[in-house]
Parts: sequence; C-alpha cells; structure tokens
Amino acid sequence: MKYKSTNGRAELVDFKTAVIKGQAEDGGLYMPMEIPHLPEEVIFNIKSYSREDLAFYSVKPYVGGMIPDNDLKRIINETLAFETPLLKLDEEVSVLELFHGPTLAFKDVGARFLSRCLSWLSKDDDKKITVLVATSGDTGSAVADGFYGVENVQVVILYPSAKVSSIQEQQLTTYGGNIRALEVKGDFDDCQRLVKQAFADEQLRKEVALTSANSINIARWLPQQFYYFSAIQQWEGNQPPVISVPSGNFGNICAGILAWKSGLPVKHFIAACNANDVVPQFLTTGKYQPKPSVRTISNAMDVGNPSNFVRIMEIFNDKADLLSSMFSSYSFNDEQTVKAMQSLKEKYNYPSDPHGAIGYLALKEYQKQYSLPGIFFETAHPVKFPDAVPYEVIIPEKLKQLKTKEKMAKLIDADYKMLVEEIRN
Ligand SMILES: *Cc1c(COP(=O)(O)O)cnc(C)c1O
Repeated sequence: MKYKSTNGRAELVDFKTAVIKGQAEDGGLYMPMEIPHLPEEVIFNIKSYSREDLAFYSVKPYVGGMIPDNDLKRIINETLAFETPLLKLDEEVSVLELFHGPTLAFKDVGARFLSRCLSWLSKDDDKKITVLVATSGDTGSAVADGFYGVENVQVVILYPSAKVSSIQEQQLTTYGGNIRALEVKGDFDDCQRLVKQAFADEQLRKEVALTSANSINIARWLPQQFYYFSAIQQWEGNQPPVISVPSGNFGNICAGILAWKSGLPVKHFIAACNANDVVPQFLTTGKYQPKPSVRTISNAMDVGNPSNFVRIMEIFNDKADLLSSMFSSYSFNDEQTVKAMQSLKEKYNYPSDPHGAIGYLALKEYQKQYSLPGIFFETAHPVKFPDAVPYEVIIPEKLKQLKTKEKMAKLIDADYKMLVEEIRN
C-alpha cells in the first residue's frame, strides 16, 4: 500500500514513512492510494469473528506487510485491551461506549496503536524517536498513557500551566519513565507555537528524530475503524444503523466512512458538532469557511478548521451530492448540550458527557426526518468534565488511584531555548 498527499505535491510513501513523518512535506495529509475491500465472507459472518480478528482484517492491507502478521496481531491485542460495549436505550437509540480505556476517552485506541507501530517500525534505526506534542488536555493524556513503557520512543508533552483540568493534569504528569511532562507558563497557543518551532528547526532535527502524535497521523486515524466494526458486530437491527459521531477534527468519523467504503454496512453517518459549525454550514451553503474556534463545554471538539474533512471529501471524490447522500451534520450550542445531558439522565438514567450528548442530539435531529434506528458514540466518561455535567458523577476506581500518585512535571517558561534543552536531554 502506498500513500499520497491530499495536496498532491509530495512523493508516494509506504506505511512506515507515513507513520514516522506524520504529515506530508507539501502540508497535506497522507491518504491510501486505494481503499481495500473486505472479504464478503467477513461481512456476512461478522458476528462469528472476534473484535481482534476484525481489527486485523481491516488494518492489515494498510500496513502493507511492513509489520509481520504476528507482531501486528500483538499490537492489535494490546490496543484493544478494553471493552467497547453497545447499549440499547430504546428501539430508536443505542450508544457505543468508547471511554473504557485507561484515560477514559476514545483517543486511547489511536494513541496505543500509534505508539506500538512507531516502536516496531523504528526498532532498527539508530536514533531513538522523540514524540513531541502540545496538548490542551485529552490528546496529551492518551499519548502519555499510550506510549508509557513503549520501547525506542521518548515522549515530551507540553501543557499550559493551570489551564487543564486537575484530572487531566494528573493523567499527564504521573507516569515518569519515557514520558516527560513540561508545564509551560503560558496558554495552549504558546505550547503549540513552541512545538511548531521545534519541528521547523533543522539543526535540532539532525540531532533528534522528532515526530508528532497528533490525529492526522495515519496510525492514529486508521485504527479508529475498529469502533465501527465493533458497533456493527453488536448491532441487533435487521437493517444497518445510522451512526452519529461527536466530531471536532473529524478523524473518528472519517475512519468510519473509510470502513463503510471497504464494505462495512452502515446506513448513514452524522457528524455531531458544537458551536464550531464549519461543516454543518458547508452542507447547507456549499461554502467551506474555516473560522477561529470558539470555546464550548464540549471542548475536545472546539476546532475551527477540521483537519480530516479533506480526507472525507477525497473518499467521496470531492462530489458534494455523493457526500450528502451518506453524510449529514448538525450543530448545537451549550444550552442544548446541558439539556440533552439532563434528558438522557431522566429518560434512560444514562450519564453522558457533553460530547456524547451532542451525538445524541444529532441522532434525534436526523430521526425527525428519517425514522431509522441508530447509534451515537459516547466518546468520553462524564467524570472528565465535572464542571459541565449538570449532576453528580460517580468517580471510577482507576481515577481514585491517580490522586495518590506523585506529580512529575518540569515548569518552564514559554521560551524556545528552554524547550530545546529539555529535548536534547
Ligand atoms: C477528540 C475528541 C472528540 C473529537 O474527535 P475527532 O476525531 O477530532 O472528530 C470528541 N469527543 C472527545 C471526548 C474527544 O476527546
């Protein structure tokens, strides 16, 4: 399998190069040259396969033989070391829970798969890989956990001092080992600026093999197809479900569309958005207009220019009519989000988080027009967003343990020289 850039001006590369580079030189995103077809036998007998087998079939063509089957299976087993249960709330609405991973949000799967692929692919290289990320919360904790103890890889995480939630800070700073947390005296934009500067620093890149772990990396994007296989495997309806996905950078939903294009039966996709409504606007007006992001209570979706939307357009050959036959998108404000969390609790005694609640709202909105049963994805545990949830949330055991661990973070100024020193160390 070869990968091209969505900007079309970079060389074709293999899986290894695409994973290690992260992003193409022309600024585009890597995209597989062709989308493989799943064997029909797998689709017909989907319930008779294990989750791990399905994951293996779905991702193997993309790896293109660069990781031997046995190692790829081990990587998948380690990636999927927690459940993704489907719960039926009523005849019309089911929920797929993606928050049972170690950091209680769906990014765990992508981070775990990426870390293990990077480690395997770079094991014979002489320079150890250093992963550098700036985080406003969820990405950093998934990366810290996903990379912890993984061989051949060092991780440096920058987070803004006093601007992440206390749970997030505990998740970022208590690992140690190959995970280094830098607490930056500044905001998220400062962290991102420092990271960008490091990636542009040719001298530094000669000394250190730097790579990023953000959601445009194919090894974070592709394994998210696993959720959709898991959803279809557990689905009891006699026709394929509509699937509603809380979306920010559109990586998760784009993986679902890829799985559908490979033959997985899905009726329709709904991208559920908060007030950051570039895509819903595009579907109504035909104009794609990126905007600065606005802050909401579903902050993991506060994205003003979703990186992965270009991949979705590419799958639909840039044809808006093909896209809209299979894909809808709606936007909801904070007030609607809080009401949805309340009504999920009252109606089904289901504690949702703000992101999942928007997934629910978007599914209901679609069902006003089409009476088709569907699934919304619950992408995080509500305890991660205690200030936004309108009732008391029970704290899971694994979080209680976090409180007793020691914080290990180095406080630095938002100063590039200080960052370089830390990276060289
Ligand atoms: C990252 C995130 C999202 C958005 O996912 P994308 O793949 O960026 O669209 C939704 N919900 C939660 C809880 C997240 O952490």
